[in-house]
Amino acid sequence: MQIHKILTVLGARPQFIKASAVSTAIAASQSLREVIVHTGQHFDANMSDVFFEQLDLRKPDYHCNIHGGSHGTMTGRMLIEVDQILRTEAPDVVMVYGDTNSTLAGALAAAKLDIPVAHVEAGLRSFNMAMPEEINRILTDRVSRWLFAPTRGAAAHLEREGANPTNISVVGDVMFDVALRHGERCRSDAGLLGEFRERYGIYPGNYCLATVHRAESTCHPERLHDIVDALAMFSKQMPVVFPLHPRTRTALSQLGALERLAACVLLIEPLAYFDMVQLEKYAAIIATDSGGVQKEAFFYQVPCVTLRSETEWTELVDAGWNRLALPGNASAILASLCAALGSRGTAISPYGDGKAAEHIVNRLEGDLTDASSRRSRALPVLQIRQQIHSAH
Ligand code: UDP
Repeated sequence: MQIHKILTVLGARPQFIKASAVSTAIAASQSLREVIVHTGQHFDANMSDVFFEQLDLRKPDYHCNIHGGSHGTMTGRMLIEVDQILRTEAPDVVMVYGDTNSTLAGALAAAKLDIPVAHVEAGLRSFNMAMPEEINRILTDRVSRWLFAPTRGAAAHLEREGANPTNISVVGDVMFDVALRHGERCRSDAGLLGEFRERYGIYPGNYCLATVHRAESTCHPERLHDIVDALAMFSKQMPVVFPLHPRTRTALSQLGALERLAACVLLIEPLAYFDMVQLEKYAAIIATDSGGVQKEAFFYQVPCVTLRSETEWTELVDAGWNRLALPGNASAILASLCAALGSRGTAISPYGDGKAAEHIVNRLEGDLTDASSRRSRALPVLQIRQQIHSAH
């Protein structure tokens, strides 16, 4: 049997989580072998290493150690490094996830070398081109041979943009796979929540979990101020726990808002995956600008307020599990938090059957085997052509 090589390019926290599902499925495949490239976009122990350890993700074969700088500089440096690795490894497929600079650099490096690209989480759109993520995901989709869409809505975006329908597969959401695999093990009485109860009197079902990391929040001081004001006001109703992304810590500090927030909100370091899942599962409400956290709120049936003007995961807003709180007005954010508290959405299951990773691997195995057998059938013709060429 011919073995096909998949080269996966990763770099950011949510990608480690998503890849843990697909890499496990690749490892179980008889016909696929994986090479992992870590660009270095996220590099701290608690933004990177801990996910490899907790989610049994194999150590990367290559570590590019590229982080910081402008979006263009970072993406350009990654493009150069990944291009070199692709020339050495000559994979059959390059796999990328989501919408970060690592995603775009991996996809572009592969496309320039005519290596087919598989994009996991294809077709998501915010329709806001001011977001670096929107640029990354649209360009990545454009150059991808396999478009693995998490939902029918994502597939519809791709179809409307003219993608070849045979390239699109609605496989479900790989984060749902991961949540199903690991969510059960997080209980309310031990771990971090046990410690919070002892130390701070914070109880399961009686706190708000907040995360903020997107450039649209952290790079706009007024927006960040409004989020801070709203969380400070909400903390009078219930404790607010806020794991701080490194970029957000820097932005709050530059704004002079870190101390004010720390006075009323429990600010903590970024969490390992299992700790985060525990805090999500037992929160009364989640306030976030994260894509992954919005979905996880729904997986654990916790009402969510998205601290953005739009979301890619619109099905959750339509079903009432999530509501948008336009940053730009602290009172409006507070009103959304109060309205969401205790609310529930309608029953929906938009994210597949929990086997998205298997569906991805099955499709790749099938297509790569077909392509190989077509190539071997074509070989005699090629050999004849070569003989004709060498005869001239
Ligand atoms: N996450 C985590 N620790 C944290 C914050 C988030 O493990 O302190 C996880 C979260 O559970 C989700 C993923 O990181 O699975 C979301 O990543 P992030 O918010 O960085 O990016 P996005 O989903 O917006 O692309």
